[in-house]
This record gives sequence, C-alpha cells and structure tokens, in this order.
Amino acid sequence: MSTESRHVTHWIGGKPFGGTAERTGEIFEPATGRVAGTVDFAGPGEVDAAVAAARAAFPGWRDTSLTQRTKILFRFRELVAAHAGELARLISAEHGKVVSDAAGEVARGLEVVEFACGIPHLLKGGFSENVSSRVDAYSILQPLGVVAGITPFNFPAMVPMWMFPVAIACGNTFVLKPSEKDPSASVRIAELWAEAGLPEGVFNVVHGDKAAVDGLLHHPDVRAVSFVGSTPIARYIYATAAANGKRVQALGGAKNHMVVLPDADLDLAADAAVSAGFGSAGERCMAISVVVAVDPVGDALVAKVAERVAGLKIGPGDDPASEMGPLVTAAHRDKVASYLDSGVAQGAVLAVDGRETPVLGGRSDGFWLGPTVLDHVTAGMDAYRDEIFGPVLSVVRVSSYDEAMELLAANPYGNGTAIFTNDGGAARRFQNEVEVGMVGVNVPIPVPMAYYSFGGWKDSLFGDSHAHGMEGVHFYTRTKAVTARWLDPSHGGVNLGFPTNG
Ligand code: NAD
Repeated sequence: MSTESRHVTHWIGGKPFGGTAERTGEIFEPATGRVAGTVDFAGPGEVDAAVAAARAAFPGWRDTSLTQRTKILFRFRELVAAHAGELARLISAEHGKVVSDAAGEVARGLEVVEFACGIPHLLKGGFSENVSSRVDAYSILQPLGVVAGITPFNFPAMVPMWMFPVAIACGNTFVLKPSEKDPSASVRIAELWAEAGLPEGVFNVVHGDKAAVDGLLHHPDVRAVSFVGSTPIARYIYATAAANGKRVQALGGAKNHMVVLPDADLDLAADAAVSAGFGSAGERCMAISVVVAVDPVGDALVAKVAERVAGLKIGPGDDPASEMGPLVTAAHRDKVASYLDSGVAQGAVLAVDGRETPVLGGRSDGFWLGPTVLDHVTAGMDAYRDEIFGPVLSVVRVSSYDEAMELLAANPYGNGTAIFTNDGGAARRFQNEVEVGMVGVNVPIPVPMAYYSFGGWKDSLFGDSHAHGMEGVHFYTRTKAVTARWLDPSHGGVNLGFPTNG
C-alpha cells in the first residue's frame, strides 16, 4: 500500500488540463481508509473546454480513413493489453476490488476494443442497384459528433470501454465523465490513447459530480449521452438529456435473482451463488443479490452457501491471498451494513454475519464488511426491495417455479438473472418467460460478449439501446439514405409527379 498522495485532473485536447479547480474531491484507499489523493471537479468552464476540444477534433476525425482509425485502435488495444496489470493495480487501489478481479474488468473492456477494431466491416451500409431505371439507392452510417459518457465507480475501466471504443471507431469524438470515486484509470487510458496516435481532442476526460454531468446534459454541442449508474440517476439523465434533444441510453441499477430449482446440482448452485454474490464485494451490476430457493432446496442450499462463505478470505486488494476486498467508501459500507439490522428487524435470519469476518492484514479503518447471508427474506423487506450493492446475499424461499416467476415479474429491475436446473425444458421456459435483459442458464453472471450488447429491461435501462455490440454501433451513428442517378442521354425532362419507381 503506498503512502503518496496523487492529484488527478482533467484530460482535455490531448493533455492534462492546466487550470486550477474551484472544487476538488477526495480519493480514498478503501483498504486503509486513508485519503490517497484529490481529484479536480469540473465546472461549466472545464466542461466547455472539453466539449470545445472534442468539437474541434470532430471534422478531422470523421474524415480520417477507416484504415487509419483501425490502425490507431489496434495500437490502443496492444497498449492497454501491455498495461493491463498497471491499470488493474490502479483500479484496485481506488475501488478496493482484488487485483485479479480488476484485471478481469480490463480484459472484458479490451474485448470491446477488439470488436471496434472491426469497424470497417461494422460500418458497411447497403446498396441497391436500379431501384428505378438507372437509379441506385444506398445507405451510409455517419457519426453524430461530440458524444459523452458518464460512468459509475464499480467498473472504472470496463464500463467506459463499453462506450468510447465504439463511439470513437464510428468517427465521433468523446467526453468521458468517470466516477469521482476512482478517477485515475480513465486518465491513464487517455494517455494510452495519445500514445496510440489518437489525434488531440478525440478523447477527453472531465472529472466531477452533478455539476459536470449537468454541464454535459445541457451543452448544445453534445449530441448523445451514454450513462451507466444507479436507477434514480439513470432516470434523471434520460429525462434531462432527451429534453435537451440528445440521443440517450441510460443503464440503471439491478437486483439480480438466481432461481434454484429442486433438480439443480446444489454444489454448482452454491459455488455460483457465492462467486456471483461476493465477487467484487457484491459491487457489480450483474452480482447475484437474491437466491430464490424453490422448495425443498432451501435448507441444504443455505448450508452449502454458508460453508463456502466461511472459507472466503477478505483482505486488501493487492494481497494475492485476498478473494474479496473492502467496499468503496465508509458511507457505502455503513449503508450496506444497515440492511443487516433492518433485515433482522423485519424477520430475516442472519445465516452468516459479515461484521464478524476477520480481515487479512487489513487496517481496521478500511471500509470492511464481510460476506453476509440473509435467509428467509421476503418481498416486503427493505433488504429485498433496495439495491444493496454490497456483499449481502438474500435468500428468498418459494414453494414453486410459478411463485419464483411471480417474484421476478413483480421486481422493478430487469438487468440480469440466472436459473440453475438440469431440466432443459424448465430452463427454456424460463428464458422465454422472464422479463430480464440478460439471462444465465447454469451461469451466474451472464455478461454478454462484446459482439452481443449489454443492457437490462424495466428500471435497469432507460432508452432503447443497449451498450456495445451492434446496438453500440447503431447508437453512435445515424443513417443517411441516398438515391442517385448519373445522367445519361435518356433522362426524361421535367416531371412534377411524386417519384414512383419504374
Ligand atoms: P451513481 O448513479 O451514483 O453514479 C453514476 C455516475 O453518475 C457517476 O459518474 C456520478 O458522478 C454521476 N452522478 C451521481 N449522482 C448524480 C446526480 N445527482 N446528478 C448527475 N450525475 C450524478 O452510481 P455509482 O454508485 O457510481 O455506481 C453503482 C450503480 O451503478 C449501481 O446502481 C449499479 O447497479 C449501477 N451499474 C449499472 C450497470 C448496468 O450495466 N446497468 C453497470 C454498472 C453499474
């Protein structure tokens, strides 16, 4: 653990921002609780400067050949891969997740960069010869201009990489507003873009809070906004950006249920529930937060889960022995811990109490809370209703598949879900009926590959466009349809009629 203090500032026009910030925020080191540095918060001036740099870079970048864009993307891919370990350590220090998990998020983000390297193929339009006599029609996909991305703390590299590789490959210029809680990875990524040869102003980073976000949402030169974060803020971003005439996709929070049917392999299900419930201390939008145990598996499943949780090693993210790190801030840790009290007060049973978990070599002033299992949770409890976003796995017991489906249908979130069963027919029915955007069958964290798109349903997504994959290409481009005739000696002269094709 280092003792130095760092200062993080914006990245505008291909270099660190030179000005002085009126406001700054603290960057914590969650494993020790110490303030590891400060981050500048953007006001209207910095937002204007970043958008102006992106706007100035747009004409040149949109006219840069696909071959040249692809070369830069390939170089960026190689640089991120070469610096993956460094990025993972940076993320772990500010977020708290263990370094191997942070390396996993860099790897999943890189998959989107690799997808974007195929941009010449992805941007092909259509062509129809002779739609009318000697008239051809074709479509072309063009970039929007300056687009913005606003991202959450829990994946400081991967979630921005859901957005900017595709946006930039399509010919847009980008302003990223990462989470103020772990801002360093985005600046390192900006440096790698510069090293890859990306022209100045194509990728910019402004740090900050609501003021920076509002600056982007109201800026007339920002054409589209991609957001990932909690549901209340996603709803606000969607409404505000749309009211300002921008294209917007806003991915929100989650409450992911894992349904365990009586015929499931309970060891597999218990391994999956623990891995997906407590990886990254439950601070994943695809974490399993509710296990729905269909009678009679409840007692046996909870026993197997508790046995596995007892063996988990909690400690600083840079200790290779740690499997789970601390939570991101003290305030978040306290909020998550409050659900243990409210759950018990409302009738749940603490099968495992994470407040008693020992911490490997961690200082007691780190933001620690061990993995917790709350059994006999019901739909009316706060622990069920709220997105806890921490290492708390709730177990709801139901008597049948139909009751499980009613529970899922009534839940406002629809990000991810999983079913554990050996019955292919039941799995197929589940996949067909469930109103959730990403489904796992005997797979607990069904994060789609980069060439599919990532996004939930219901209150987990505002807008109609998921992130990355072809939906990303669609979001970051607009289609132009061209009808063309090159004159030949047989053109027919003036005709005021509406064009019909003959
Ligand atoms: P958050 O909503 O608090 O913050 C997300 C971003 O919005 C940050 O950049 C933040 O600075 C900004 N922001 C915060 N408050 C704002 C306000 N009042 N006005 C304008 N901007 C504001 O989310 P978080 O705590 O950083 O991240 C965790 C949340 O993100 C969880 O709810 C999680 O489920 C969700 N998430 C969703 C997905 C998904 O794909 N659906 C992926 C990752 C995380």
